[in-house]
Amino acid sequence: MTDNAPQNPSATASSAAPAPLALLGLGDMGTALARTWLAAGHPLTVWNRTGAKAGPLVAEGAVAAATPAGAVAAARLVVLCLLDDASVGAALDGVDLTGKDLVNLTTGTPAEGRARAAWAEARGARFVDGGIMATPTMIGVPEAGGYVFYSGSRGLFDTHRATLEVPAGARFVGADAGYAALHDVALLSAMYGLFAGISHAYALIEGEDIAPKDLSPLLSEWLGAMGFFVGNAAERLTTRDFTTGVVSGLAMQVAAAGTLLRTAEEQGVSTELLSPYLELMKRRLTGDPAAHGGEDTAGAITLLRA
Ligand code: NDP
Repeated sequence: MTDNAPQNPSATASSAAPAPLALLGLGDMGTALARTWLAAGHPLTVWNRTGAKAGPLVAEGAVAAATPAGAVAAARLVVLCLLDDASVGAALDGVDLTGKDLVNLTTGTPAEGRARAAWAEARGARFVDGGIMATPTMIGVPEAGGYVFYSGSRGLFDTHRATLEVPAGARFVGADAGYAALHDVALLSAMYGLFAGISHAYALIEGEDIAPKDLSPLLSEWLGAMGFFVGNAAERLTTRDFTTGVVSGLAMQVAAAGTLLRTAEEQGVSTELLSPYLELMKRRLTGDPAAHGGEDTAGAITLLRA
């Protein structure tokens, strides 16, 4: 279906009674989602491979389906929150999806999202993929700031937006069904880079007369100040200008990197988390020192795509 122009919410949205939906997957995340829809008065049919997990939710008002097909038949809106893409394929194998609106909150890659969209559409369903930027404890807690990226059928998203916003905020990021996963993974990848740096910093002081809790506020403050790099890199990648207004040039940073590596060695700390980024800066510089010595480190991003 090609329905990606924004549409007005239908009667299933905020103006009407809470819309019915079906949810497949009652792990930690699925259970948290289910509770928010039940608490908001949505008629909810649930299915889980291990049926016993539905028990507490039935006590709270959910209807338990014995099979995935039974759950899918119960509502137009069908939400999937299973372990991985393979479990989605396994659960819905042979199930009639004609006329259904599938929202897949199962974590996957962009390619899996796109393939699953084509798979759903070939079965007569509209499809939206989601990437959950929250832990189960943040679900149903607006002040926790969790949200979900959605991409795929704009029509589906607009139809069910009010229902989808019950557990967490909703951000639609494009008609390409792979974009929710791409946004999700981009943010998670940045997070792990941050975790790597923090881990290295704490390892450096371990065994010294510096308490982690004393370094902690200094780290938070420093990382906050260095957060300017997010916007700075975006601007430079847009303009492809890596040299104007640079205050800490690449040649200086590569020279300073030697100090970071020697300090790690002195402290007996592995450089496995630190070296990859320093190596990337070095590669950018040695490629053409005259051209890149005065650059911002954002220029090194251009080396990452093969
Ligand atoms: P859990 O491990 O708690 O639950 C996994 C769920 O998938 C269970 O319902 C399990 O059923 C089901 N499942 C696994 N394999 C199959 C299969 N082959 N066929 C059918 N069902 C299957 O995971 P979560 O609930 O925490 O996570 C669910 C999704 O949400 C994942 O994709 C995860 O990446 C994502 N997510 C989770 C976050 C979190 O912090 N928990 C944060 C953001 C996203 P059974 O009970 O029978 O084992």
